[in-house]
Amino acid sequence: MPSVPLDGVPVPDDGSLPASALAGVGSRPFGVYVHVPFCATRCGYCDFNTYTAAELRSRDGSAVASPRTYADQAVAEVDLARRVLGDREVPVRTVFFGGGTPTLLSPEELGRILAAIDDRFGLAPGAEVTTEANPETVDRDVLLRLRDAGFTRISFGMQSAREHVLAVLERTHTPGRPQQCVAWAREAGFEHVNLDLIYGTPGESDADWKESLTAALAAGPDHVSAYSLIVEEGTRLAARVRRGELAPPDDDVMADRYLMADELLSAAGLHWYEVSNWAAGPSARSAHNLLYWTGGDWWGIGPGAHSHVGGVRWWNVKHPAAYAARLAAGRTPAQARELLSAEDRRFERILLELRLAQGCPLDLLDDSGRAAAARAAADGLLDAAAHARGRAVLTLRGRLLADALVLDLS
Ligand code: SF4
Repeated sequence: MPSVPLDGVPVPDDGSLPASALAGVGSRPFGVYVHVPFCATRCGYCDFNTYTAAELRSRDGSAVASPRTYADQAVAEVDLARRVLGDREVPVRTVFFGGGTPTLLSPEELGRILAAIDDRFGLAPGAEVTTEANPETVDRDVLLRLRDAGFTRISFGMQSAREHVLAVLERTHTPGRPQQCVAWAREAGFEHVNLDLIYGTPGESDADWKESLTAALAAGPDHVSAYSLIVEEGTRLAARVRRGELAPPDDDVMADRYLMADELLSAAGLHWYEVSNWAAGPSARSAHNLLYWTGGDWWGIGPGAHSHVGGVRWWNVKHPAAYAARLAAGRTPAQARELLSAEDRRFERILLELRLAQGCPLDLLDDSGRAAAARAAADGLLDAAAHARGRAVLTLRGRLLADALVLDLS
């Protein structure tokens, strides 16, 4: 496995990219991610780069950064992206607003950032434009205004339908609210609606998880993402697990919950296309995430956002005040970058493509990887027929062991 440098190398102040990275820009799919690093409160399991108002207050009580001034900063980085990529045609196929809680900005402010992306680059015909939304921060009116602003897809953080599970996660919404949001989103004209779920939370039973899946499906989304709970170091959840107040997630329980998810979602017509993602058909798949998973180019706007263009990956400074200060000084907000070697890129392709329903080509593997693939096919972890056709495609049992298989094959 190639090593991933922790610190990277410095980025020129103007953010310019090497000619090798710029070659082919516009011929590869291009997307824009906009990170909105604000939340009303911090959920106990979350280690994302996000800040509450209290965390952004200086000693004298004034705000060092705020959602109110954020759209201008994001637009300044869109302008920087345009300068760095030059005057090449770079139609934007996908835009994704994530967080944090993007919907702490008004639909009009989000729309202003989107309009700047469209103005500077041009949205490709039929571009997918998604925002994540915390169910408590939107209502029918907000969803109508988001649709008017040009959003085509919305992703609600539901996590669970069970109140005691939400309480362990320290999520603030009430059960039932995400389902109501799906109905409002449909009324507002959103064709594509995702619900995010989490399984394996301490205290969650099989019956609780089944109820969450059933409630999610009853709401009628055309896409569901279901992730196992990860106890991230430094979170309040990790502290509670360490103190013995909560049981750590159990691998066998996680596997059973995954199988239950696949069974219920598939029976409802949502089919897996990536290990943790199910969709009602090709048009319901997340084009933005597929762009990440298949080696496209994307520019990540915002504090801590990561970008990738032509084998160069960079990441922005994490704190919103540092981010704003860099842009105000006319400098790139990028903290550092790395130039991926051919071996890095091969490993990343295996890592990402193996998790897709289409799998990865066997000719991407070296000799020991191909031998491991043959063993995995014989063991029923890779689909034997696909293997015979030259592809490594996970079986249902293989999906449970995807991480270990990536290591074997790479
Ligand atoms: S709403 Fe999302 S980003 Fe914000 S703290 Fe909770 S999990 Fe983290």
